[in-house]
Amino acid sequence: MKLLCEGVNGVAKRLNFQLYVGKHYYSTKQKKNSVEDNDDLSHKYSLSLKLPSTEFPNRSSQELIQNKLIPQCSTNLYDWNSGKEVDSIKDLFILHDGPPYANGNLHIGHALNKILKDMVNRFQLINGKKIFYKPGWDCHGLPIELKALEKLNSSTKRKDLDPVKIRKLGKEHALQAVNLQSEDFKSWAIMGDFMNPYKTLDNTYVVTQLKMFKKMFDNGLIHRQKKPVYWGCENSTALAEGELEYNENHKSTAAYIKFQMVNFKLADVDVEITGNTSALIWTSTPWTIVSNKAISINENLTYSILKSQQHGYLIVAEDLISNCAKFDGTIKDTKIRFLGKQLVGSTYSNPFTNEALPIISGSHVTNTAGTGLVHTAPGHGHDDYLVCLENGIKPYSPVDNYGRYTEKVPDSCRDLIKKKVLGEGNELMINKLQTLNMLFHLDRNYIHSYPYDWRSKKPIIIRSTPQWFINVEKIKKITTELLNSRVKFFPERGSKRLISFIKNRNEWCISRQRSWGVPIPVIYDKNTDEAILTDDLLDKIINVVEKDSPNKWFDPNSSIIEWLPESLQDKADHLVRGTDTMDVWFDSGTSWNIIEQYLVENNFIQDANARGYLADIYLEGSDQHRGWFQSSILTKMATTKAASLPETDLHIESSSSTFDNIVLPYNKIITHGFTLDEKGNKMSKSLGNIISPDSIIYGDKKAKLPAIGVDGLRLWVAQSDYSNDVNVGSTILKRVGENLKKIRITLRFLLGNLNDFNGEEVSYENLSFLDKFTLSKLSNLSLASKENFENFSYSKIIRELNNHMNVNLSSIYFDISKDCLYADGTSSHRRRSIQTVLVAIFKTYISILSPILPVLTQEAWNHAPDFITNGTASPFMKNWYQLPLEFRDLTLEAEFENIIWPIKDQLKILVDKGSRIDKAIKNTLETKVYITTQNQNSNTLNVLNKHREHLADYFLTSKLCINDNVPKDKSDYNYESKFTVGEDEVTVNVLRNENFKCPRCWKFQSLEEDSLCHRCSELVE
Ligand SMILES: [Zn+2]
Repeated sequence: MKLLCEGVNGVAKRLNFQLYVGKHYYSTKQKKNSVEDNDDLSHKYSLSLKLPSTEFPNRSSQELIQNKLIPQCSTNLYDWNSGKEVDSIKDLFILHDGPPYANGNLHIGHALNKILKDMVNRFQLINGKKIFYKPGWDCHGLPIELKALEKLNSSTKRKDLDPVKIRKLGKEHALQAVNLQSEDFKSWAIMGDFMNPYKTLDNTYVVTQLKMFKKMFDNGLIHRQKKPVYWGCENSTALAEGELEYNENHKSTAAYIKFQMVNFKLADVDVEITGNTSALIWTSTPWTIVSNKAISINENLTYSILKSQQHGYLIVAEDLISNCAKFDGTIKDTKIRFLGKQLVGSTYSNPFTNEALPIISGSHVTNTAGTGLVHTAPGHGHDDYLVCLENGIKPYSPVDNYGRYTEKVPDSCRDLIKKKVLGEGNELMINKLQTLNMLFHLDRNYIHSYPYDWRSKKPIIIRSTPQWFINVEKIKKITTELLNSRVKFFPERGSKRLISFIKNRNEWCISRQRSWGVPIPVIYDKNTDEAILTDDLLDKIINVVEKDSPNKWFDPNSSIIEWLPESLQDKADHLVRGTDTMDVWFDSGTSWNIIEQYLVENNFIQDANARGYLADIYLEGSDQHRGWFQSSILTKMATTKAASLPETDLHIESSSSTFDNIVLPYNKIITHGFTLDEKGNKMSKSLGNIISPDSIIYGDKKAKLPAIGVDGLRLWVAQSDYSNDVNVGSTILKRVGENLKKIRITLRFLLGNLNDFNGEEVSYENLSFLDKFTLSKLSNLSLASKENFENFSYSKIIRELNNHMNVNLSSIYFDISKDCLYADGTSSHRRRSIQTVLVAIFKTYISILSPILPVLTQEAWNHAPDFITNGTASPFMKNWYQLPLEFRDLTLEAEFENIIWPIKDQLKILVDKGSRIDKAIKNTLETKVYITTQNQNSNTLNVLNKHREHLADYFLTSKLCINDNVPKDKSDYNYESKFTVGEDEVTVNVLRNENFKCPRCWKFQSLEEDSLCHRCSELVE
């Protein structure tokens, strides 16, 4: 017997059915190889058992997955979807793809993003919607241009390079990346229109973008001005706020600097001050002192005059006296006090230019740091620029593209020319201040937060240059109001985040000094640098680009006359095309046009306008609050008619009807976190903890990652709580792999046991209590899953499905039903009832799993009987399977869950105890069970009586008695437990069953040794 048991287990293992086949059955199919010579009776009868049998394998080859299953469940399926006729926009679902950057390899974050999108799409598809999902790529911009430049002769200076050449290489590089990334996306079973993706370098895309620029110009939102902008010296280009990273530990040299007063009149203060008086300022950028044009004070702050032996009289804010006095032991407070407004109008001397400069009023000045008097350089600071604008002072910034002082420095500073302001130039400037005796105090180790260029990782400067801007100030109020009232965010906190980013933004600098991008369509006067921008010029430029390509704009062989409308042709000689390109966020921001065009082509645009949005969903990483989510809504709002209204009308309360007509780019925004390793660290080359999607799919021995396939990668995404940062590592992936295996075995068990079913289902009324209970639980699972899909809570779906699979299927329904499935005849009503339930389980599981694990469910579908598939090629073609709501039976659920299963649990504890003490009995089938209730008329007893004939099966015992006398014989085996069930006290006794084991079904129901039980003997004969 021992030998056979090992043989049986061996076969079961090989079948990988061991979870559900159980210990005492084995496959007739595999029998010949394993237990051929065993003439045990069990073996003899095993041939008459109906063991599960299916061609659906334990695992499938990569070849099958990539060459057959993925095309079936992705390309073929999307083609079928595209062919669907749709009557109403309600039957259409649009997730708009945020374009990844067409540079480099895809990483695990891309997998998280694209798989989440695919799950959203597939759930809609299986619910009968037609989906529109056009993948996109962001193709312009600096990183690609740098790649292109690497290919060119490294000794060639960038300014000597031909933009046409750079553009040609940039395009090649981007297209190559698009192809590689596209293949990777498809290999993850992402379904979409990969044959016709959108690319921001496509001519049609560029033309549409230029048209958007024109609309914004028509709305009066585009302007050019010399303004301080964030500037990256390494790549010599303006940077948007979104391109900055703050270094909290940046070290600067900070200086307290004296400016000697020239005309110091203190109105209404009757004090005599003899000797030199200076305004004391503080700065962390001494290199900007050369560009100082004013000192700002706050009118409402109280100021004081200090007297120092070395430095003379010093003006500082009263609240900051101690802040300054600590550096000079000789300082005495003169006790003279006056308000800031009394200082306004005084002048001081800038020794570098020998100018007398004004003290001006600025509300940005505070008494929290420095001296309360603020060095003001309008060419190098945003506040400085604004306060000078009010006072008619022009920006001045003698610094070039590379962050070096230019010829425009004052004559006294010619030694600064060509010196870097963030290096040698700063030191020279400090020396000059020292020589001129202007330094009050120097701090070489001033640590503070400072913006860096996110690409070069180098500190940036603020520098005034002529740039092109979109006026965000004008549209931000209405934009934030609409975001607040009309857009749903998952998770909800995203709303605050996006709104606060937009609230803090006034202008969007859209010009970049690069070649690889969409040209800013402006003509300049060669002599005066005056910009020319008119409607007919824009129309003409758009027309030429449409007929040719944006490359022509950069082609020196294209004469200016080709680009000019008639009105400008006579001035052609002194006109020239601009060389700036647009910020790439403008490119990707206008991608909602892809959706708009699709809706126009399919006659749904009016419906979309009526509902007020284009795409149902945008889904990206949470960093896109300051990136794409923002640039998308800003470009949309800036091109609406409403944006041309006077500013005072631009908010909802004032004229709501105007804003009802505004169509937003999206209805819902879903965001996900970043991927971290198992310890919560960022992945990086230096830490050596990078996990690529391929290493998850194919495994990585060095990193101890199991090969868990495409479905494994997708299951990892689904089970992760993506609303926060997501961890990935070998422990997590091993668990995912085991979970995936369990799901596969479950589907295999279902298909294996349906193999001889003809599809003639037993009607609900004729099913057993256990069947009905199982359908009720299944119905709950299905409803909850659907709701979770609607809320994008995939990890909850997986958690609930695992729980259902382990508890309701594996431990209860499958375990109890196996005896009937394997040992009853094909004509058995009970067996057909179970098969009826198995069909419902299969259909429900396939519906829930298909959006998440489309490859696995496609394979199962390929092996499913016709009465399930009805000849369809994909589960998505059969739509979501939902059991009738009336199958939910809460009373029955309570009977099982509050009474029957608690007794079963106690029984198991007793048998386990018995098997530990009395080694003889290990299996509940060897026992008989007596249940005694204390109360003769309790609900517990009623339920037990109702289920009486099935209880032995539920409990997997061979005999069960209720309220019978427990035999007080000399049985060596009698374990007893008393416990409360519901409101009744129940006693359970487990005894050894005196009957004999049936060699076929192993139940202890045979009356003689080595003979069949009643059921089996009838069947075998
Ligand atoms: Zn039997």
